[in-house]
Amino acid sequence: MAPEVLEAMLPYLKELYGNASSMHTFGGQLGPHLRAARRKVAELINAEPDEIIFTSCGSESDNTAVMSALEVNPQKKHIITTRVEHPAVYNFCKHLARKGYRVTFLPVDNMGRLSLEAFYKALDDETAIVSIMFANNETGVIFPIEELGAVLKERGILFHTDAVQAVGKVPLDMKTLPVDMLSLSGHKLHAPKGVGALYIRKGTRFYPYIIGGHQEHGRRAGTENVASIIGLGEACKLSMERVGRDYDYLSMLRDKLENSLLANCPDARVNGDRGRRLPNTTNISFEYVEGEAILLRLDEYGICASSGSACTSGALEPSHVLRAMGVPFTALHGSIRFSLSRYNNETEIDKVIEVLPPIIKELRMLSPYGREKK
Ligand code: PLP
Repeated sequence: MAPEVLEAMLPYLKELYGNASSMHTFGGQLGPHLRAARRKVAELINAEPDEIIFTSCGSESDNTAVMSALEVNPQKKHIITTRVEHPAVYNFCKHLARKGYRVTFLPVDNMGRLSLEAFYKALDDETAIVSIMFANNETGVIFPIEELGAVLKERGILFHTDAVQAVGKVPLDMKTLPVDMLSLSGHKLHAPKGVGALYIRKGTRFYPYIIGGHQEHGRRAGTENVASIIGLGEACKLSMERVGRDYDYLSMLRDKLENSLLANCPDARVNGDRGRRLPNTTNISFEYVEGEAILLRLDEYGICASSGSACTSGALEPSHVLRAMGVPFTALHGSIRFSLSRYNNETEIDKVIEVLPPIIKELRMLSPYGREKK
């Protein structure tokens, strides 16, 4: 969390702990504070405050958007998404497919770029919603959301984008981005974990996913997580001030890390389109080694990286994203993702550059494939 975010939250955990939906003054006084937080979230993406609902996480925002489209279009049973979505969309759509919905998972090429041909082909009169991520969480590759949205707007098909990785990293303008719903999540922009938001364009027909009380004007039930919402607002304000500066700084760190590792580790390659991606993510395959072994060795130096997405690592399943990109078997298992933030510095990058090449060399000596290559 950003230190400013923590500072902003503390009063709401200590003194101002009332229930914002209560009649009494103690809870009721929180109203203006929640409104201010909503305004800050809206400002970051150039939306209107009443187009924002607070949720418990990015996953909830994603599930809500897809489910709402199906509820408001009960006669339409077709969903279009991609083979590289985060599990919050990917597994939810697989679940819906088991429930009888028809789901098209669009393919990507070996650089993680969406097949536009497949997209055009998939659209039909039964399509209730298209849910395509803004930027991929494993490779950082950015999809052509403006182009897709323009087509969908013309066809009158609802369009949701999971922008959890993009919000705060690249500027977003909902006044020009042709998207009906957009998900974001607190912990990707230095707010706490366990809070998110869903943007719903004014005029979009919507049906709530969490049903109960009247919070969020009946669009999302549940007692407001006041402190975390305040934290999300503060994080959005900070991102708004820093997005350009952060972009340049993160690209510089990422490029230094990437170029040095590619130069010093034979048989290493970057996964994803290097020309169109987020500034903070790099996904590198070190052929003939196990990603988990690399992670454990890096962990000994206090370096936290990840193989696959954080949710799939531990499952020992190779990443569905890299598989969809056709990454060869020998590279698939040796893929590592580094995610950088404004709180990383060059000394940390230098440390990775120093320790990782010898680790790769050592692990290759232990692998039958690696030895063969030598
Ligand atoms: N979508 C993307 C692209 C993500 O990267 C993540 C989290 O890593 C999520 C959705 C889920 O967000 P949350 O962990 O807040 O549920």
